[in-house]
Amino acid sequence: MTEATGIVGEFLALKEETDADILAMQCGDFYEFFADDAELVADELDLKVSQKSSHGSKYPMAGVPVDDLTPYVSALVERGYRVAVADQHETADGHAREITRVVTPGTHLATGDASAQHLAAVVRHDGGRGADGETYGLAVADVTTGRFQVTQLDDADVSAVLTELYTFSPAEVLPGPELRNDDDFLAQLDERSEAAVSLHATESFAPGRARHRVREQFGAETLESVGIADDDAAIAAAGAVLSYVEETGVGTLAAVTRLQAYGAREHVSLDATTQRNLELTETMQGDSSGSLFATVDHTVTAAGGRLLKRWLQRPRRERGELVRRQSAVAALTREAMAREAIRETLADGYDLERLAARATSGSADARDLRAIEDTLGLLSAVADAVAETERLADSPLADVLATVDREGAADLAAELDTALVPDPPGTVTQGGLFSRGYDDDLDDLIEEHEAALEWLETLPDREKERTGITHLSVDRNKTDGYYIQVGKSETDQAPDAYEEIKTLKNSKRYTIPELDERERDVLRLEERRHEMEHDLFERLRERVAAHAALLQDVGRALAEVDALASLAVHAVENDWTRPELTDDGRLDIEAGRHPVVEQTTEFVPNDLEMRPDERDFLVVTGPNMSGKSTYMRQNALITLLAQTGSFVPARSATVGLVDGIYTRVGALDELAQGRSTFMVEMQELSNILHSATEDSLIILDEVGRGTATFDGISIAWAAVEYISTRIHAKTLFATHYHELTSLGESLPNVQNVHVAADERDGDVTFMRTVREGPTNRSYGVHVADLAGVPEPVVDRSREVLDRLRDDKAIEVRGAESGDEGTTQAVFDLSSGQFSGASADGGDETDQVATDGAADQLDPSTEDVLEELSDLDVNETPPVELMAKVKQWQDNLDEA
Ligand code: ADP
Ligand code: MG
Repeated sequence: MTEATGIVGEFLALKEETDADILAMQCGDFYEFFADDAELVADELDLKVSQKSSHGSKYPMAGVPVDDLTPYVSALVERGYRVAVADQHETADGHAREITRVVTPGTHLATGDASAQHLAAVVRHDGGRGADGETYGLAVADVTTGRFQVTQLDDADVSAVLTELYTFSPAEVLPGPELRNDDDFLAQLDERSEAAVSLHATESFAPGRARHRVREQFGAETLESVGIADDDAAIAAAGAVLSYVEETGVGTLAAVTRLQAYGAREHVSLDATTQRNLELTETMQGDSSGSLFATVDHTVTAAGGRLLKRWLQRPRRERGELVRRQSAVAALTREAMAREAIRETLADGYDLERLAARATSGSADARDLRAIEDTLGLLSAVADAVAETERLADSPLADVLATVDREGAADLAAELDTALVPDPPGTVTQGGLFSRGYDDDLDDLIEEHEAALEWLETLPDREKERTGITHLSVDRNKTDGYYIQVGKSETDQAPDAYEEIKTLKNSKRYTIPELDERERDVLRLEERRHEMEHDLFERLRERVAAHAALLQDVGRALAEVDALASLAVHAVENDWTRPELTDDGRLDIEAGRHPVVEQTTEFVPNDLEMRPDERDFLVVTGPNMSGKSTYMRQNALITLLAQTGSFVPARSATVGLVDGIYTRVGALDELAQGRSTFMVEMQELSNILHSATEDSLIILDEVGRGTATFDGISIAWAAVEYISTRIHAKTLFATHYHELTSLGESLPNVQNVHVAADERDGDVTFMRTVREGPTNRSYGVHVADLAGVPEPVVDRSREVLDRLRDDKAIEVRGAESGDEGTTQAVFDLSSGQFSGASADGGDETDQVATDGAADQLDPSTEDVLEELSDLDVNETPPVELMAKVKQWQDNLDEA
């Protein structure tokens, strides 16, 4: 490409200055994209590309009108692009352009999405004295609401910090200098999160600079008062986020009024896989409807919905906060009238947290300020409703409202109410915003302006009377200004003083000196009024912005009332119960249900009883489709709901508080969705084995299924042993390896439960009731029966099966046997050991032994074994297999 000059050259030079993906450059009434950017934008947004000629070269060009830029930028940012905007401004010799802001996924103020929008910085510092692990700092900001949360994880690893990060579903992540080249970190982030990754200037992460930046934003003593003065990693992350928001120039930093530090021990660990498996905010298919959140969400405000979602994604560990929420919910469940009145009131409100951010960034218009006034007004209505209902007044709900400065809120609302007209226009530069009596100078100006307008309005009547002309009007347009218009038939009656300015088909236009003079007056007054109202409005908006913290407080209090009321509504409508929260590690659920499945299905309730040490590991067996997965998830969700302060779907529940919930599903289910591999399954299993503690809840669903039987059963076996003897986490483990049920015999804390099925009359009916003990039937044989396999074969296969079980040994065949041919092993259920052998080495066959008794083999036995080892189970139809087994048995009987 030849060196571009002119407008394209200017565009390309500006593009060089920024590391944004796309540049939008203002050219008069349009924002233009050139060259590669034009093609990219056209592609993404379906814009038309034209060609711009510049000094002999042609460049693709696409543009949008100045006033329409915002939705286009939003659409690009939502697709993960960072968009720089260069504005044009007048200079002494023409005009100049410069980049005024960069809109990124984490700093996008004009988002149309009510969900939280998180920008996060993650920093790693080397482990301190004596610590094995490293220290991670995490800072998370939502610029649309001004929330800013910071934490530090000491002695942690990549997966721990990512687990913490994912609970925020970040839109954009700024990795610190130490993490930028960490392939493991970046790969995991890429795989599990949709976040855009942005590289922010290294020096912004430097401890001294970051500390300074944080103090500047929140005040000198803040770090000490929130208790993170020594947490360098947390401070580095916080400083980086602040400087990034500032640099993007979107002007929302002032909305970040408070630094909230939290301990990593406050929340239940929920990694990304668990959030997905439990379908907290979206289903496995990626739909939001059918998720837990969609099911329990009855909030009536955007902020209430955001808060409820946050509660679900970040359940709490300590009982105090949970009991507080529970008590408020309990009171609300019993006061239906007051609750519904409060919800109706809340529904009239607007999103105060977001409006506060709009005010501080200078983008709020008069309608936004009216919305703020309206919503502030709801505070007292809600507070009164609570105060008037004794049960609510005595509940923690009253404390939620007591923390906000109600007087300050009322004062601000009153000021806005007297200032603004009831229904102001959507633009702030065209006047018409303020009520009379708000500002004396403005009132005088308005009076003068309106007198001048009045003179113009009454001019036609005066002129008609004076001249006797009937078809006479006064109008205004852009080119002629104000004029008197006279119908064609009467133009000869026009007085001499009428100066003709234009002849039209049916009329003539005139002006007179007084009209010219008044026109100048009106235009001058109009301009002054617009300017004055705009100035006044900016000052009013600044005063509102100065109250950002107050607005956020009120917004958050109303959001909390909304979220608590939503939990109460769901509890009442679905007959949920208040769980008892304990610290003794028990989980006792009577007639529990799955919160989502019960919405659409006649649900069969189930009990669960887990006790530390004696009964903390349950092996769940049962045929396919009997309800194993549902049962396990239901209990994980009940625990999770209990730890958000919600009631739970059960007749009664005692929930020992957990520090983390971990769920894994065998790769087969996942593979079907093209998502996962056996490798991922194993990585995830390994993660659990590293992270879970005796206070955690683990759900393992068919783990080990993603590989050949031989491997799968070994992995499953070892995992059960490790968890039950070393970690002691409460665990529910569903498996189709029936053999694993015998683990209950050797490990005292491991017990079996099964989902009962009824198979009378040749029909399998799933009762979906969970009972003690392992399944005692082989449903595989039963299915063969149902499929019409001849009776003798089915009967015989039952005998064979019983015999195999009695022997407590089962043959397992490895599919990945490599070059040496087929590998066989006998898995001894009482010891949990394999004894293995290579089938083509005849001298080794003696190791394939059940009881160690077969030193000497007669030829017919050897024949059977040889045939057995050559047989490919995966390739042989079941009926043929059975026939072969029968034949071998006959042969052995004869021997
Ligand atoms: P499994 O894991 O044993 O194969 P699932 O848990 O996937 O079985 O359940 C199979 C089907 O049965 C699902 O459609 C589920 O909604 C339904 N189901 C499971 N448990 C119950 C129950 N307790 N009551 C009613 N329907 C249930
Ligand atoms: Mg299942």
